[in-house]
Amino acid sequence: MSRLSILEFPDPRLRRVAKPVESVTERERKLAADMLETMYEARGIGLAATQVNEGVRLVVMDLSEDRSEPRFFINPEITDRVGSQTCEEGCLSVPGIYAEVKRAEKVTVRALGLDGAPFELEADGLLAVCIQHEIDHLDGKVFVDYLSSLKRRMVEKRLRKQQRQDKAEATRA
Ligand code: ZN
Repeated sequence: MSRLSILEFPDPRLRRVAKPVESVTERERKLAADMLETMYEARGIGLAATQVNEGVRLVVMDLSEDRSEPRFFINPEITDRVGSQTCEEGCLSVPGIYAEVKRAEKVTVRALGLDGAPFELEADGLLAVCIQHEIDHLDGKVFVDYLSSLKRRMVEKRLRKQQRQDKAEATRA
């Protein structure tokens, strides 16, 4: 397995819409394993292929405390949404920024597993939030899109400054 680098907002590559996986092969399984390792290393709970600059509809997630319940969603589609909830979200592509986002309370999602077999899942709470957040990534959306444009510009400014500092440090090192 290998670790991948995660794109950071406002990188325009986060805006690309990912393409469906035509058939699940070793290539997708290798990508999923690398994404899972990358997500664990970054202490995230979900990661979409878009975030590692791969334009395919693949998401990995693990909401368990001890990182023992990896979940894989290939070509995920939300087929039903019920109610609403507001939850504070963060994102590996928007480091250090947390904000409240309103989303559906319950969702039904259809996807393929790593074995290529279709499955359906009903999710609520944090799992439902995470699924909606990750599918947004596949559609080129980032959670800060739900914020006011003023707040989004502040986030963008802060991250650009941070990225410049990181770059300057890397050059000095
Ligand atoms: Zn995210």
